[in-house]
Amino acid sequence: MSEIKKIESVCTYCGVGCDIEGHVKDNKIEHISASPNGVVSEGNLCIKGKYGFDFVTSENRVTTPLIKKSFLEKNLEILSAVADSLVKKDDTWYEFSLDAATTAVTMKLKETIKNHGRHSIASIGGARTSCESAYLWQKFTRHTINSPHVDNCARVCHSPSLKGMRKTIGEGAATNPFNDIYETEFMVVMGSNTTEAHPIVANRMVKMAQQKHNLAVIEVRDIKLAKFSKYNAVIPHEANLLVLNMMAYVILEEELYNKEFVAKRTKWFDEYKNKILNDPYANPEYFKNLEGYAHLAKMIPNIAREYALKKSMFFWGLGITEHTDGSYAVMAITHLALLTGNIGKTGAGLMPLRGQNNVQGACDMGCLPYYNPDYQEPKEVGLMTPQLVDEMLEGRLKVVLNMGEDITHIHPNINKIEKAIEHLDMIVVQEVMMNDIAQKADIVIGVRSAYEKTGVYVNAMRRLHLSQPLVKSDLPDDWEVIKMFNNKMADENSENYYKYESSKDVWNEVREVAHRRFSGASYEKMERHRSRGLQWPVYHEDTPVLHLLDFRTDDGLGHFSYHGYKLRGMVEEMLNNQLGSDGGYHLTTGRTLAHYNNAAQTKESEKLNKRYDEDILLVCEDDKKDFTSEFVVLKTEFGETNPLRIKFTDKVKTQTLFTTFHHSKSRINAIFGDKSDELILTAAFKSIKVEIINQ
Ligand code: SF4
Repeated sequence: MSEIKKIESVCTYCGVGCDIEGHVKDNKIEHISASPNGVVSEGNLCIKGKYGFDFVTSENRVTTPLIKKSFLEKNLEILSAVADSLVKKDDTWYEFSLDAATTAVTMKLKETIKNHGRHSIASIGGARTSCESAYLWQKFTRHTINSPHVDNCARVCHSPSLKGMRKTIGEGAATNPFNDIYETEFMVVMGSNTTEAHPIVANRMVKMAQQKHNLAVIEVRDIKLAKFSKYNAVIPHEANLLVLNMMAYVILEEELYNKEFVAKRTKWFDEYKNKILNDPYANPEYFKNLEGYAHLAKMIPNIAREYALKKSMFFWGLGITEHTDGSYAVMAITHLALLTGNIGKTGAGLMPLRGQNNVQGACDMGCLPYYNPDYQEPKEVGLMTPQLVDEMLEGRLKVVLNMGEDITHIHPNINKIEKAIEHLDMIVVQEVMMNDIAQKADIVIGVRSAYEKTGVYVNAMRRLHLSQPLVKSDLPDDWEVIKMFNNKMADENSENYYKYESSKDVWNEVREVAHRRFSGASYEKMERHRSRGLQWPVYHEDTPVLHLLDFRTDDGLGHFSYHGYKLRGMVEEMLNNQLGSDGGYHLTTGRTLAHYNNAAQTKESEKLNKRYDEDILLVCEDDKKDFTSEFVVLKTEFGETNPLRIKFTDKVKTQTLFTTFHHSKSRINAIFGDKSDELILTAAFKSIKVEIINQ
């Protein structure tokens, strides 16, 4: 009888990047536990990490490449090229070989470039796979297809963090390790439902908050983390920038700022100070005008004072970034750190809590239309995903290559995206599961999951973790599929021809191309330090804390630039005594502990899915009169959800609602339009006015 083997790797779900230990017998995962020495997981995993591995053997895996019958009927040359390999699966799909699949894809790519030019092709995805695959994805798109259109799911999450932090301090990444939570004196958590979305980071926060009573939570609803807080500031929807500017106002007006730090390490302070002190919206007294929120006129200044006078860390999530002023709110957060010197040292810093397990890595690898690997300028800037959707509708974008990004589920305005996809000549999906976008694709290529391959992942604290396979798989890795595409298009003697034999070969090229962050991060070093991990930039040593001496701006200084809050939405309605007068409600969306994003992998685990098998709408108990049925449909000008079960609670404020978006059958994202961050087009998922239709 074979033995149980214990193999260390990294969790496939969220950006915490927990160190896991797979217990494997006969090439099957028996269970997963925290790696005993893991510095990130500290001996604990959340339920997704522990139980979310049944997808590996699920019958919903894509195990054989698939091609749609309807696509072949329109592409007779491709049909004749791959005919020998086709095996009918059902009325919609044929199965065929990987060789035939990559031939079909590349025939269409060549034809599209010839007939419509290189700009008619785009690649979307990369944050759920390894850095090696993400790197090759953008390289193939930029160099072989010669299209600048590369984007990843940071578009719908933390692109505003990258934008706002790069503008003010020159680097769009967390400044400190998670373990600095043990070193800090005060924590502000804003727009992050940490116990559900980043639970193993939340464990640290809870532990320290219980010991030191040093936590402020700023959110639009009463979240679990707030139970452990000293300050539980439940704020109106779309008021982040308002609150952040108020914090800065208090610090400036009461002269609590760090004069030495500001003088030595920043510029444009005086202009910033003048503007903020003369902005009527920046005075916390403003909250006295908002019924139900007047207590914030005192609480926000108290949070600002503790933040300024203590060694503090600021954490945020998509509750900050997914708004029209998301990038400006991130700038306002970095300004608070610059004002108070709460950056560039242990126990003080800025922590954007990134979502997907490798979204940081995908951005580092250049899967963004405006950055090459290592955040270098590309020779040509491409379009962002919402712009690409418009290009599809206009008929200029003909082909989309998609690697692990369920764009008809997790992006906004899914009715529009579904229409746009119909205009494409081809959409190819590389996927682990037969999810929503895979169902809608022309060609689907099944690939290895994170538990079946070797590769580098970068978590939300810039930590590189070299994963190793828990089980063997006959499926190709994403990078191997891209290599096959490439080598069927590139001349064998050209520099574009790929000779990589392993993920390590690809990674060694990353270390040269993206040397500013990764030159010292060899596979050997990452293997030696698998439990500790390495935080980029990595040369001889790694870099746990950024900005110790200088910021990463061109002049090394932190840059202030003030943006005032624009009156709108719920705050404006309250000021005018109109809240609820039109029967509409302010909705925000988010995650729950049991599932990750589109739930394609987590819902395969019975333990997880039975905890949360439908998206639930949370409604304030005071609003019962408007909710007369068990289920309601939410409606906007862009579309309707399917009926959602209601749960009354005292955890959301009157006239506000909360729901998750995990289950595609709910069609939550059909109600969102194109409203997005002004600078970087991240969808404004965190606040929308909806109409209620009782069922
Ligand atoms: S916190 Fe995130 S990385 Fe850790 S086990 Fe849970 S899902 Fe996985």
